[in-house]
Amino acid sequence: MISDILQLEKSALGELAEAKTQESILAVRTKYLGRKGLLTGLLRNIAQVPADEKPLFGKRCNEVKELLEEKIEEALKLQAQGKKEAILAKEKIDVTLPGRSIPPGRVHPVIQIRREICEIFATFGFSVVEGPEVELDYYNFEALNIPKDHPARDMQDTFYIEDNMVLRTHTSPVQVRIMEKVRPPVRILSPGRVYRPDSDVSHTPMFHQIEGLLVDRGISFADLKGILTAFLKKVFGSDTILRFRPSFFPFTEPSAEVDIRCVMCRGKGCRVCGQSGWLEILGSGMVDPAVFKNVGYDAEIYSGFAFGLGLERIAMLKYGISDIRLLFENDIRFLKQF
Ligand SMILES: [Zn+2]
Repeated sequence: MISDILQLEKSALGELAEAKTQESILAVRTKYLGRKGLLTGLLRNIAQVPADEKPLFGKRCNEVKELLEEKIEEALKLQAQGKKEAILAKEKIDVTLPGRSIPPGRVHPVIQIRREICEIFATFGFSVVEGPEVELDYYNFEALNIPKDHPARDMQDTFYIEDNMVLRTHTSPVQVRIMEKVRPPVRILSPGRVYRPDSDVSHTPMFHQIEGLLVDRGISFADLKGILTAFLKKVFGSDTILRFRPSFFPFTEPSAEVDIRCVMCRGKGCRVCGQSGWLEILGSGMVDPAVFKNVGYDAEIYSGFAFGLGLERIAMLKYGISDIRLLFENDIRFLKQF
């Protein structure tokens, strides 16, 4: 019977030496020391041991039990430590390596132009307002004197969401929304994204516009000319030459396109200006009394002017960019040049 204990001790220590994981060490403990374990079983059978061997048998059993408990505890401790060391080794950071730098971003040229224009008009007393990009037909067209089936709608191809809801084709609906809420004087600038189903080297389905509106008593075309001249000289330089050409917009009367002398050829004629020597910059005009009527302004008392321009076009002219699509590719090598 004593030999059984020796045999058990030997095999238990052997198995423990082989156990490399926490699970296998715990399995050895269960196999020998558990409630139904082998050593526990031996002790339970002590009644069958001859009387003279009993004291020695009991003593040996307890010695083996204590030894196994001690060895198992030690094995668990070593195993846990090894695991920790392995993790530490794996996660070791070499603090002598140079850091990985994140390349800094740049302000997009369109955003730069938008900020510049907003700052210039802030000095003229204009405040910036914004409106929804998904717009009711009423604000995008009807309130701006473009009724349904009016030929003027052909001037602006439109993305329709529903019969009476569109992706706004211009930022002008913001003007109507503001005029509905406040009484003159009004001096606002509304920048934002607009949408038209167009795509080529100078058109993208989404682009940015900025519009201005000034309404007060006694505003004349001279005010329009004065403010737009001051504005364009600030953007393109004090030697900029302007011309105002009669034009048509449903929401202004009279209307004018504003051109500047070509910034590339200085008026001689080149590819950028189509050999004309002039570049179209913005549309403008005196607010049509029909628009004032829609928002409840008395056209006998108030007058005003509005203008709008495409930010991509200004950025392209100012920075000499030939293809509008470059502005939307987000190629950092391109954007870094501005
Ligand atoms: Zn030119």
